[in-house]
Amino acid sequence: MLAELSPALIAEVKLAAKLLASKRRICILTGAGISAESGIPTFRDKQTGLWENYGVEDLATPEAFVRDPKLVWSWYQWRRQVVVDKAPNLAHHALAEWQYHAQTSDQQVTLITQNVDDLHEQAGSSVTHLHGHLWRNRCGQCEAPYQDQSRASYDNQNAMSFDEALLTCPHCDGYIRPDIVWFGEALPVNEWQTAEAAATNCEVFISIGTSSLVYPAAGLAQLAKQNGAQVIEINPDPTPNTIVDITLAEKAGMILPLLIQEMTA
Ligand code: NAD
Ligand code: ZN
Repeated sequence: MLAELSPALIAEVKLAAKLLASKRRICILTGAGISAESGIPTFRDKQTGLWENYGVEDLATPEAFVRDPKLVWSWYQWRRQVVVDKAPNLAHHALAEWQYHAQTSDQQVTLITQNVDDLHEQAGSSVTHLHGHLWRNRCGQCEAPYQDQSRASYDNQNAMSFDEALLTCPHCDGYIRPDIVWFGEALPVNEWQTAEAAATNCEVFISIGTSSLVYPAAGLAQLAKQNGAQVIEINPDPTPNTIVDITLAEKAGMILPLLIQEMTA
């Protein structure tokens, strides 16, 4: 693995590992890029097939659901089909391993994700979801959780059904929607508090696989920096994040196993 990285990048990984090994409070924010190597397209990738003429901003909003609930529901059923057989990759596993070891060291590793997939959990991580959960549904009107189509119920079916017919709430007859934070909606209060506290109190903030364009999540790195943290970014492509101290410009699945190996060596 080492041989595939340039000497300059290996030097940066070693620098980051040394910094991390010397600090106690770490806050990590992940985005769609960490799941890219598992085969889940990021939001900046062009949509394919049936959906190529739609922008995600036209589908992932409360207005879109009011205008055409069937269209939005169908898109999420399609996304669930894309995600259901995907497994955690080396990056998810490396973070889970780090959190596991942190339990017996004096490090505190808080993992926050913008992703709605459950690949961090599948890898064994404890994670705070800022933007909701792909496998949960709730009523769009009275907000009651809708249990009948959880991930478990999808899993329990032999032939997994992603029926596109709209479901209605047993309490108020409103349409059932995915339990996901759409553009223009507020983030869940408890999760945001956890993220803000971790970013404020951390000594190192690591931004992984996020384009750093969507606020308020994108502001967490700035919050950490203002409070004295150093910022590490792992992303093969440049982002508008200008406050980064160490840039590791490679795929998360290549960098993270190496970084954690170096850190614990
Ligand atoms: P993004 O698609 O905007 O950015 C993904 C980033 O990952 C890019 O910067 C890319 O260079 C990087 N990347 C690609 N492959 C990588 C790899 N192997 N390793 C490391 N990095 C890699 O995703 P985002 O930043 O997570 O988007 C922010 C939020 O915007 C999302 O969580 C989502 O909530 C929201 N959003 C939601 C929808 C929706 O459908 N609800 C649509 C668009 C955006
Ligand atoms: Zn309801």
